[in-house]
Amino acid sequence: MSSQTARAEELLREERERLVRQLAELGAAETGELRSDLDFGGSFADAGAVTAERTEVLGLVESLKSQVDDIDRALERIEEGLYGICAGCGNEIPPARLEAIPATILCVDCKNKGVTL
Ligand SMILES: [Zn+2]
Repeated sequence: MSSQTARAEELLREERERLVRQLAELGAAETGELRSDLDFGGSFADAGAVTAERTEVLGLVESLKSQVDDIDRALERIEEGLYGICAGCGNEIPPARLEAIPATILCVDCKNKGVTL
């Protein structure tokens, strides 16, 4: 494993911990599942505001969850020894891109083409 990959793995694991903590603060599990006992405002809040808040939290959870997914995929690539290789076309991902977005597993071309895996 190159030192750049080792550094990326470290960054990714730290970032993942941070995201999971944020999810926990929102009352969501690592899987994005909300705790069932979560209280959105209690009985005195008006229903519209509660719905709006709930929608906002769900949106946030969704976005955090997808970041965790991205990181998990990147960590898988590291384990397979494929980190830094585009999962779409097999070309090398430029180090500057990996530096900017350690969780990326696609080169800019594939990303722009909307390649999904
Ligand atoms: Zn590519």
